[in-house]
Amino acid sequence: MTEVYVLGHNHPDTDAIGSAMSLAYLLNEMYNVKAIPVISQKPDIETRYALDYFEIPTPMVVRTIANKQIILVDHNEIAQSLADFENSEVLAIIDHHKLGIKTNKPIYLLSEPVGATATIIYFKYKELGISIPEKIAGLMLSAIISDTLLLKGPTTTKKDCVAYQDLADISGDVKDYFIQGKHIRIAQVYVTDMAPVLEKITDIKNEMNKHISKNYCDLFMFVITDILKINSMIVVLGDERAVVERAFNTKLAHDMCYQPGVVSRKKQIIPLLIKAFLAK
Ligand code: FE
Ligand code: FE
Ligand code: MG
Repeated sequence: MTEVYVLGHNHPDTDAIGSAMSLAYLLNEMYNVKAIPVISQKPDIETRYALDYFEIPTPMVVRTIANKQIILVDHNEIAQSLADFENSEVLAIIDHHKLGIKTNKPIYLLSEPVGATATIIYFKYKELGISIPEKIAGLMLSAIISDTLLLKGPTTTKKDCVAYQDLADISGDVKDYFIQGKHIRIAQVYVTDMAPVLEKITDIKNEMNKHISKNYCDLFMFVITDILKINSMIVVLGDERAVVERAFNTKLAHDMCYQPGVVSRKKQIIPLLIKAFLAK
């Protein structure tokens, strides 16, 4: 079987890695190839967090691509790729940056002025009718969040918003728990800047209240996690909101509490909630 490297740019960010992973998966599903996601350096802290969170193994770090067939994602310029780039065979490029490459033969080129390469790949999945696994959707979502600064950056397009919405649904950043007969819903978004989300706080609370009445939910927590500063702002609504105050030993102000060091729903939030419910 033909082996193809799907390569993200040097100093790989979440879009470079998310695109390499998601495109490799798509190629393996669609074609008779062995597509391997690769990067030239270890992931940065933001991507590390996303990979850990969605329990996705880090792509292989390669030092050479000589004599390899490669597909470039999230870049197209030699300067952003491995040094022995010239000795590889580029089959395709999927990217959202300005073009700066000359090829010596025809290649497959998918270039679009959108906020993230992950957005282009998302629409490729749709076009081919391939369903996106939950974990990969989560990584693609992180890539879009990162590259578009949570859909607030100047490069954000309608397509990024559509992809974001759908990927957020697939990756299930909303989870329901039942503790002591109470229905608890916890949604989480992870950002690199909280300000844009906090600006929308009234809309978020309205949405939360709609869910509470529609789903007979006793407690709804919306966790906004800053993955760079390693902290969370938690918005809390519902009849059981006092449990959260006990769990985190805090008082809610404007239905919110700030939790430094808290980033994991599974490992940090849920255990404290269970304890507080049981101590009731
Ligand atoms: Fe990038
Ligand atoms: Fe990008
Ligand atoms: Mg980036």
